[in-house]
Amino acid sequence: MAYDFDLYVIGAGSGGVRSARFAAGFGAKVAVAESRYLGGTCVNVGCVPKKLLVYGAHFAEDFEQSAGFGWTLGEADFDWATLIANKDREINRLNGIYRNLLVNSGVTLHEGHARLIDPHQVEINGQRYTARHILIATGGWPQIPDIPGREHAISSNEAFFLKELPKRILVVGGGYIAVEFAGIFHGLGADTKLLYRGELFLRGFDGAVRKHLQEELTKRGLDLQFNADIERIEKQADGSLKVTLKDGRELATDCVFYATGRRPMLDNLGLENTGVKLDKRGFIEVDEQYQSAEPSILAIGDVIGRVQLTPVALAEGMAVARRLFKPEQYRPVDYNMIPTAVFSLPNIGTVGLTEEQAREAGHKVQIFESRFRPMKLTLTECQERTLMKLVVDADTDKVLGCHMVGPDAGEIVQGLAIALKAGATKRDFDETIGVHPTAAEEFVTMRTPVAG
Ligand code: FAD
Ligand code: NDP
Repeated sequence: MAYDFDLYVIGAGSGGVRSARFAAGFGAKVAVAESRYLGGTCVNVGCVPKKLLVYGAHFAEDFEQSAGFGWTLGEADFDWATLIANKDREINRLNGIYRNLLVNSGVTLHEGHARLIDPHQVEINGQRYTARHILIATGGWPQIPDIPGREHAISSNEAFFLKELPKRILVVGGGYIAVEFAGIFHGLGADTKLLYRGELFLRGFDGAVRKHLQEELTKRGLDLQFNADIERIEKQADGSLKVTLKDGRELATDCVFYATGRRPMLDNLGLENTGVKLDKRGFIEVDEQYQSAEPSILAIGDVIGRVQLTPVALAEGMAVARRLFKPEQYRPVDYNMIPTAVFSLPNIGTVGLTEEQAREAGHKVQIFESRFRPMKLTLTECQERTLMKLVVDADTDKVLGCHMVGPDAGEIVQGLAIALKAGATKRDFDETIGVHPTAAEEFVTMRTPVAG
């Protein structure tokens, strides 16, 4: 049967755009559908605008610290509307770049909501198109628990477009988004509380990292409330919000921001017209080559719920394009040693196993740790400390994990990830000459294990 397209991609986000462009580059006839914004979550309401807001929040401490270096500044004043307008302009520019990238690689762009009609057919804007392969790359969507008053809460989607910086804000959750946005709002001057339901936030990160970040954020005056969960939210006559916690406490705030995970975006996608199956958590179930239970339909990125990070969606998109249209270049995605950063203030950077994971996996571990005051702060009043930690297999000397809390941790850990991917041993780290004076050199100068 002749199809309209070799590949029809639903979703022009990180994974979809990568897959579509490369498939077209390999000679396939490709279309991509996008209902909302080119570039997807990362470009529009994720990594990119988030990082711009983090940069914005960082200035507060730069101004403060500059005094130690002899600077006298006038009273700093911050204007949220300017930051958001400039951010929007930059995102518009990126949207244009994504459009050009697609069009210049020969991909047909359909702007509208796509819906599956059958295993080889998609409907969009009243038109139907057939395709040999269909790739679902529809990403995720914020998930807010169903509590009374949830209509008064916002998610990250709205946070990027608030008209004003709230005077008081409660951020709910203990994952990446909650920690990053609590830092943004606190840095920009809002009275910020972070509420997390468990004992300590950032479950799954190394224990020392979680504790260290807790201490650093507390030092900065961020109000961290653990073992705290909201029962209901009520709007008051003056427009403020009354928040009642499950333990009976009441808090007054101007904004409640939920960052409690993301669900797969499957709304009105027409999956019922196909044999696609979902896993226990509701994400699309795929095999190791991203094929769903319906042989002509594949899925990648956040919608399969494996690792919800842009570089992972990109790698999966690339793998699909190669497998379908350039099989001789196909390489499976390696999910080991994925580096990641939490752009809190200070940053977390991490790659490989946490100490807890290494022990659980049966490794006999050696732990190396360094805690120090960053050189930049020695002329300031700031008491922030950096943490660096190596998890080493005592039998093989292999470095199993690197973890850091401190300035530029995300930048530093990228290089370390290459070393770990290449199987570096502690001896390789020891024999590497440092770059002096940097914080990063600490990773190659830790000599004495702290725990066996
Ligand atoms: P998406 O990028 O979400 O793209 C899916 C696209 O499909 C969307 O454009 C959507 O409009 C479209 N779509 C959905 N349904 C349809 C339909 N039926 N028809 C047509 N189009 C449709 N990751 C990092 O690596 N680093 C970070 O710093 C980072 N920060 C983040 C901050 C926030 C606040 C958030 C929310 C996420 C962040 N992420 C970060 C995660 C990252 O954004 C995602 O992992 C990544 O965008 C997933 O890519 P994707 O291609 O799976 O989906
Ligand atoms: P996460 O899965 O990282 O964290 C969700 C948090 O919400 C957890 O602390 C969880 O608690 C808590 N939670 C879940 N359900 C509830 C509930 N019903 N009530 C109260 N608390 C609840 O999700 P995020 O929304 O922060 O981010 C989504 C994903 O996006 C991330 O996992 C990450 O992959 C990606 N991302 C990456 C970034 C980066 O690379 N820098 C930045 C932002 C997002 P518990 O631990 O107890 O389950």
